[in-house]
Order: sequence, then C-alpha cells, then structure tokens
Amino acid sequence: MKPKIETISAHTKKVEFKNEPVALPIYQTSTFRYQSVEDLEKYLEGDETQYQYTRYENPTLRAVQEKIAELEKGDRCYVFSSGMAAITSSILAFLQQGDELLASNSLYGRTQLFIENWLPRFGVKTRQIPVAEFPNVDRYFTPKTKILYIESPTNPTCQIIDIQGAAECAHRHNALLLIDNTFASPVNQNPIELGADVVLHSLTKYIGGHTDLIAGASIFAERNETPMREAIRTFGGTLDPLAAFLIERGIKTLPIRVHRQNSTAQWLAQRCSEHPKIKRVNYPGLANHPQHSIAARQMRGFGGMFSFDLADYDQAR
Ligand SMILES: *Cc1c(COP(=O)(O)O)cnc(C)c1O
Repeated sequence: MKPKIETISAHTKKVEFKNEPVALPIYQTSTFRYQSVEDLEKYLEGDETQYQYTRYENPTLRAVQEKIAELEKGDRCYVFSSGMAAITSSILAFLQQGDELLASNSLYGRTQLFIENWLPRFGVKTRQIPVAEFPNVDRYFTPKTKILYIESPTNPTCQIIDIQGAAECAHRHNALLLIDNTFASPVNQNPIELGADVVLHSLTKYIGGHTDLIAGASIFAERNETPMREAIRTFGGTLDPLAAFLIERGIKTLPIRVHRQNSTAQWLAQRCSEHPKIKRVNYPGLANHPQHSIAARQMRGFGGMFSFDLADYDQAR
C-alpha cells in the first residue's frame, strides 16, 4: 500500500551515505528512533553509539564536548545552555545539605549571587575569602568543606590565584577544586594540568568567539562522570544542537584569536599604565601586577581582558 500524503509529510527520510562530511552535521532532533528492541537494550546497557533524547545525548553535542574536553586536557565535558547553567549544575552536582563551600570573594556577578543567596537556602554553608588571603586558604577548610570555588583571572579585576596551590589544599581536605577558566581560555591556561577537578567556561566569550550565542561547558575527570551526568540530565540545562554547531565552528579560530587578543591587550594595558589620568591598570601581564609571577608560572598568555581605575567617579562618567 502506498503511504498517504499525511504519512509522507510526517516522516523524515533517512539518507545513507558512505563518505564523511568535513564539517560537523547538526542533528537538530529531540528524539532518536531505535531500529530494534535490541538496540534499545544496548542503549540501556550503556552502548554509546545508541542515542535516545537530546537532553541526554546528541551526536552534535558529543562532538563539541569531546573537542572541548581535549582542549582543556580533561576526560569528559558537558555543554550547557549558558555559562551559568554549567556553573550552577556543576556546583549542585557535588553538594548536599550540611556541606560547606569555600570560595574567593572575587567572582562573576551571578556566580556570586548563587553562592551568597541560593546555596544557603538549601542548607549549604558558604564562606568567601579575599584573593590576597589565598596563600592561607588552608585554615578556612572544615571537615564539611566539599568544594573550593575560584576564578583566575577574575572577572573583571583580573586577580590571580595559584591554581596548583589551591588544588593541593582542596585535596588535602578531601574537597574538589572548581575553577571558572572563562577569562583565560584553554589557549592560555589548563587548570586540570594544575590539579583542578572541574573546569567551567562561559562559551559565550572566547570559545564561541562571535557574540552570536549563549553557552557554557563543564570539563572534568572520568571519576566525576556520574554526578555530572545526573546533574545535566535532571536540571536540564542542555545546549541546542544548532548553537553547538556554531561553537564548534568558532573553535576553529580560537588559538588565532586568543594569541592576537593577548598581544593587543598587553600593548593596550602597557599604554594605559603610562597614561596620566589612569591610576592603576589591572592586567596580569604587567610586571607590577600583584600576582604577576604566579600568572607567569601558570599561564601561557595573559588574556585579552584588563580593567583600570580612574581618580574618581566623575572622571569615569
Ligand atoms: C560571562 C561569564 C559567566 C556567565 O556565562 P553566561 O554564558 O553569560 O551564562 C561566568 N563566568 C565568567 C567569568 C563570565 O565572564
């Protein structure tokens, strides 16, 4: 029997071909069809060639995740619908009521609000210490501290924390080090090599690179796969496959862009620091930055962002 026009219209044709596309295909589908009950059973047994539902896994997302994991020298990655989705899902993945989170006091605004206003609602005690106090961070841990959370460089004051020191300290206290690496990008810094457990990115910034999408990523070691997978599948901050394609395309030029941004920022920061109306320039690439030597040890480049202080608010206006 020939299918009716309604049936032809409703079904997507499957196109077989043997050669591979050079660019990443966009699998813009919510759901995947199984060829047989056996395939469904294989999926349930963990066969990673079987897909079910895009909040769980999708080939376009998986390709981007494998690429970002490799850039950050981690085992695994999940991409999220925003940097904040990556940050909140990753923090919640490792905490329960009664736990404590220790953080620096110089954080992205919404991360700051999440730690200050939201975690305490769920019985998580939080404590934040100044970046300058980090050489003594050891004394702020308690047996209940499960996470040490930092940024380096910080947004927007470009302060630097010794990542290896922070990781060693967290591990001595059986806690995890989570670090937002957005301001460095994987071109300039790989915190996992320095001992960090989870690396977070707003892909909206350097990695996407073209100001045309909002996305985030969390990169981590194999041993943290279960809590991370449960968090993204339940909280649902999954990225759309079309945005994932754009990120993958953006990454093709990431090293070229970041190298150029490093050198432009270094030049501009130097020029600004010689300007009579500028009081202070915050850029880790300048020799007079308070943590310049730490930055020089853990970064391959100092990034494209800097900030500066003027004499007063009127001048800033
Ligand atoms: C932008 C930014 C975020 C938040 O990312 P979104 O993609 O906007 O949700 C988090 N951390 C840092 C350091 C950022 O610059």
